[in-house]
Amino acid sequence: MKKNNLLIVVSGPAGSGKGTVLKELLAMSDDFAISVSATTRQPRPGEVDGVNYFYITREEFEENIKNDTLIEYTQYCGNYYGTINSKVSEMLESKNVILEIEVEGAMNVKRKFPDALLILLLPPDYKTLESRLRGRGTETDEVIKARLEQSKNELACFEEYDYVVINENEGARDAALDILNITKSEIKRTSRRLEVKEKFYE
Ligand code: 5GP
Repeated sequence: MKKNNLLIVVSGPAGSGKGTVLKELLAMSDDFAISVSATTRQPRPGEVDGVNYFYITREEFEENIKNDTLIEYTQYCGNYYGTINSKVSEMLESKNVILEIEVEGAMNVKRKFPDALLILLLPPDYKTLESRLRGRGTETDEVIKARLEQSKNELACFEEYDYVVINENEGARDAALDILNITKSEIKRTSRRLEVKEKFYE
């Protein structure tokens, strides 16, 4: 990992508003890039291949697993999702790179890259989560139930994350600002700035 650019994991249950918050963050600052994952799930209306995800078949995904081209991957609600190694390394040269991934992937990233910054994004409460998910209208009832169930796994690892950010209703900008401020502080953490100390011993 390049010094001073952070690998940032943002997790949050479906309905936590990750997409909206991260869009706000990108509008606020040029210092961030979002990694585009590969998935075997079907695109939702309006989603674009290469922008939201790289949509690939199960066979292609399993080929990627075999060739070790993924930093991490998981199966979530019946589909594969994974982070493509080469793209992340390239982006880290110039930006803080955000992985918008679920909890199992987040824990795997933490094991592989202990320096990664882990942020958990949550709605204010479970009721809000449910109503946001139903209001989205893009998933069947069965998928919504599976995703609500999955949200509990997200919370099981609450303490493993470095920061928790609450996305209040209409609060995406504030949540993005929280992530920006957390990142700014993290970059100044002494353990990430050892080169500053070294300058005094030349
Ligand atoms: P969705 O189908 O709603 O786009 O994503 C479902 C879940 O998969 C979300 O929690 C999302 O953050 C997660 N996800 C997306 N890409 C990846 C990835 O590359 N790896 C992992 N582990 N999770 C991912």
